[in-house]
Amino acid sequence: MTVIVGVTGGIGSGKSTVARLLAEQGAVVVDADAIARAIVEPGSSVLAELAQRFGSDIVDDQGQLRRSLLAERAFASLESTQDLNAIMHPRIQEEAKRLLVASPAKITVYDMPLLVETDQRALVDVIVVVDVPEEVQISRASATGRFSAEQVRQRMQAQATRSERNNAADVILDNSGSLADLALSVEQLWAALSEQAV
Ligand code: ATP
Repeated sequence: MTVIVGVTGGIGSGKSTVARLLAEQGAVVVDADAIARAIVEPGSSVLAELAQRFGSDIVDDQGQLRRSLLAERAFASLESTQDLNAIMHPRIQEEAKRLLVASPAKITVYDMPLLVETDQRALVDVIVVVDVPEEVQISRASATGRFSAEQVRQRMQAQATRSERNNAADVILDNSGSLADLALSVEQLWAALSEQAV
């Protein structure tokens, strides 16, 4: 049976990097962000629900989701963020579960930013939290060019605090050092998980 490892962390903490390093060791990765993108394809029922809640103009003339407009509205208040999560998360969880149980790998990674917030502990055997100080989150996430520092702060407010996340962890991976340091920590994690998987 596969050991299912939930990899989580705040925005810009290094989840995708950890998932990629684990994939290089041989893990199968189920990516919650990729599922989130797939379930809002044109014509989907999830997209219709989002349009009903956040305005029909979040869908463009080609039927595609305008992601930045949805994000602007959904992260405007705690209530609207909760509404977004209530629409998206049951569907993400359902699809993730299907993929996780079907994985043929010895170790399967569930890369899920909101694993702690959405109480998906039951889906995984081990929770790995990728941890960095908040100022590192802001500088790394804004350096990708995907977000401004303000957008990063807004998303951090919609996520669990650092201590809430770390309290839920079985393993905390410190990613405040270099990428080489992280690669070494992931190798050690892989060795420990491999023992568990036999
Ligand atoms: P998001 O929440 O936005 O999906 P994430 O948690 O998946 O982010 P990554 O995409 O893995 O984080 O990392 C964010 C950025 O920080 C990337 O550009 C990545 O290359 C860089 N990064 C990750 N770890 C380190 C490190 N130890 N040193 C320097 N840069 C790093």
